[in-house]
Amino acid sequence: MLTMTPAIPESAMARRGFGNGPPVSLFTLGTMRALESPAQLEAVLAAAIAAGINHVETAPAYGPSQRYLGRALRQLAIAPEAVLITSKLLPGCTLQQGQEQLQRSLEQLGRSQLDNLAVHGINTSEHLEWTLHGPGQALLQWAQEERLVGQVGFSSHGPNALIEAAIDSGRFSFASLHLHLLDPARLPLADQALERGMGVMAISPADKGGQLWDPPPLLQLACHPLQPLELAYRFLIARGISTLTLGAASPDQLQWAQLLGGADGPLTASEQQALERLNQQRLDNLGDSLCGQCRACLPCPSGVPIPELLRLRNLAIGHGMERHARERYAMVGQAGHWFEQINAAACQGCNQCLPRCPHQLPIPELLAETHQRLASPPRRRLWG
Ligand code: SF4
Ligand code: SF4
Repeated sequence: MLTMTPAIPESAMARRGFGNGPPVSLFTLGTMRALESPAQLEAVLAAAIAAGINHVETAPAYGPSQRYLGRALRQLAIAPEAVLITSKLLPGCTLQQGQEQLQRSLEQLGRSQLDNLAVHGINTSEHLEWTLHGPGQALLQWAQEERLVGQVGFSSHGPNALIEAAIDSGRFSFASLHLHLLDPARLPLADQALERGMGVMAISPADKGGQLWDPPPLLQLACHPLQPLELAYRFLIARGISTLTLGAASPDQLQWAQLLGGADGPLTASEQQALERLNQQRLDNLGDSLCGQCRACLPCPSGVPIPELLRLRNLAIGHGMERHARERYAMVGQAGHWFEQINAAACQGCNQCLPRCPHQLPIPELLAETHQRLASPPRRRLWG
C-alpha cells in the first residue's frame, strides 16, 4: 500500500480551462475499465497521477467505481485539490432520491464537495425538461447552494438538436460528448459549448471512436507513420477540446496520455498529411456511395436513422473497420435511448428521402446493403 501522494510532474501534462472550475489535464481518467478489484483501480489511478492527470470521471451507474475510487484516493493519500472528480446522476429521480444519491456519492468518494456533477445522459427531451424545469432543477440548485457541487454539466448520447438546446439553456458549465476523429458530427456543438465558456470532455475517443486500440490494417496504412489512436487524440486536442477520457484497465494503457500530455499545439504537417490520406482513403474506397453525413435526408417516416447507419457503412468499406461497424450495428435497438433504436431493415422503400440527398445516393439500396453486410455473421473478407 502506498501512503504518500505520488510525485505530480506539473509540466508533464498540459491543463485546460473547464467551465467555471479549476483547469483539467488534457486526459481524464475514465474508471469504467478498472473495476475488477480495488487494487486494479488504485494501480491505474497512481499511474494516471504520475502521468500528470488531475481529472477522474466516475458515476454511480458504473458499479463499484465510486467506492473503489474513494478507497484508492484514501490509500494513495491524495489531497482533494490534486485530483478533480466528475461524477454523474441519472435524470428522472425525485428531489429526495437525488439528494440521497449525491450524498451517497460524496460518502463513497470521501469528499465534502464534488468538483463536477454531470446529469448522466440527457438523451431525450424529457431528460432535459427534468433537468431545467422538473425535480432536477431543484436538485441541482440545492446541490450548488449547499456547496456540495462545484459546477454542473451534462453528458448526452442524444440528437444534436437536443444537445444544442442543452448548451443554449445556459444551465451547464460543461458537456461530455461523443467527439471522434471518425465521427465528427458533434464537433460544431463542441465549438458552440467552448464559445460559451463551457468545458468540453470527449467521451471515449479510443473505444467508441472506432476501437482504435486495435486498428485494422487499412486504417493503419492511411495513418502511417502515426498510429490511428495517436491521430485521433491529437485531432481532438488540436481542435481545442478541453479534455479526453481515457479508460485504462492497467497502467500501461496510459501510454498515450504520457506521450501526448504535453502535445497541446496545433496539428503538425505530418498529422495534417495523415488526415488528408484518411479522407482520400474514404473517397477511394467508397466512391460516389460515400455518405457525406449532411443529414438532409431526414426525417424518415419509418424512423430510420439514415446518416448513423450509413456512417457505419462508411467506416466498414472506407477504412476496413468491419468489426467495429458490426458491433455497433448489433447494438441498434438494444440500448434504449443510449443508442439508435431502428436498423436498416425498417426501410420501407418509400423513396421520400431520395430528393433530399444532395449526393443523389440510392439510400434504400445502400441501407439494404448495409443491413446485409453488418447484420450477417462475421466472414473473413467481405470487401476491398
Ligand atoms: S426510402 Fe427508406 S430510408 Fe428513405 S424515407 Fe423511405 S423508409 Fe426512410
Ligand atoms: S442526405 Fe445523403 S449524404 Fe446526407 S446524410 Fe443523408 S444519405 Fe448521407
